[in-house]
Amino acid sequence: MISILTPCYNEAENLPLFWEEMRRVAEASGEAFAFVFVDDGSTDGTLDFLKNLAASDARVRVVALSRNFGKEAALSAALDFARGDAVIPIDADLQEPPKLIPEMIRLWREGYDVVVARRADRSSDSFFKRTTAKWFYRLHNKISSPELTEDAGDFRLLSRRAADAVKRLPERERFMRGLFSWVGFRTAVVEYVRPARAAGGSKFRVARLWKLAIDAITSFSTLPLALLGGIGALVSFTAFFFTAFLVVRTLVFGVDVPGYASTVCVILFIGGVQIMGIGVLGEYIGRIYMETKQRPLYVVADVFGEDTAPE
Ligand code: UDP
Ligand code: MG
Repeated sequence: MISILTPCYNEAENLPLFWEEMRRVAEASGEAFAFVFVDDGSTDGTLDFLKNLAASDARVRVVALSRNFGKEAALSAALDFARGDAVIPIDADLQEPPKLIPEMIRLWREGYDVVVARRADRSSDSFFKRTTAKWFYRLHNKISSPELTEDAGDFRLLSRRAADAVKRLPERERFMRGLFSWVGFRTAVVEYVRPARAAGGSKFRVARLWKLAIDAITSFSTLPLALLGGIGALVSFTAFFFTAFLVVRTLVFGVDVPGYASTVCVILFIGGVQIMGIGVLGEYIGRIYMETKQRPLYVVADVFGEDTAPE
């Protein structure tokens, strides 16, 4: 059995289309499917639609979170409630085409534990999102390991053992696709052209994407911390030689009063480096702080459909 995991946040407009398409693919493939929908605190008709779906189709299970916890948490909830031999996280907005699923299942049956869907063409995303995404993947893959498949989202197939490995990761600040690649296993890639959102706008604002990017980098790399030390050493060395130079110059040529501008520049530069350094430290310390609270990732309000507790 294969579990389809769909986090939904205000997707009332998309869900009927998504379900239509998903059901068609499921029927055509002849495989046994189960569906786990997570309502991530939607404020539109999303939950009503999902409740009806759970009532009318025994394969559907709906987990309603108590508020909006964000996509990473919603996906974690879906993963906890899924029981299939393989799981496939997929967005509700049809930007990740369900028709790829049979091909993913075929590769899984061939022995791959992970089948990643890669966006071969992102021209439907805005220029801003495309460029920032490109920079992000470049930077991330330079400083973190394992590498992320560029332009791969959360849409992928995970075998049971790969999904279990992800579930065992205890961290709270989660960047799911990083965790998905962290667990490793034999991985295949399928490509698709990313269509525009079926309805509504992206649920991710710039601030959220920024947080996601920082989460990703801080959870898989400590290079920024090491870099701080490097920058500090560099600045100290420069300061040392500059001081020596000043001492010699004063001894040879005597004291000269002008020098206000250069002093201010140096103070500002060093001040800037220090504050930046403190900021980077802060990003890590903040995350340590959040982790130490050991709060659950999400709170479940209701479960509809098959009512059993998560494994
Ligand atoms: N989503 C969610 N919680 C959130 C934001 C988004 O569950 O707080 C879901 C959303 O309903 C969709 C998926 O995550 O199914 C991807 O969201 P979106 O399409 O807005 O992201 P994008 O495709 O722009 O990266
Ligand atoms: Mg989308």
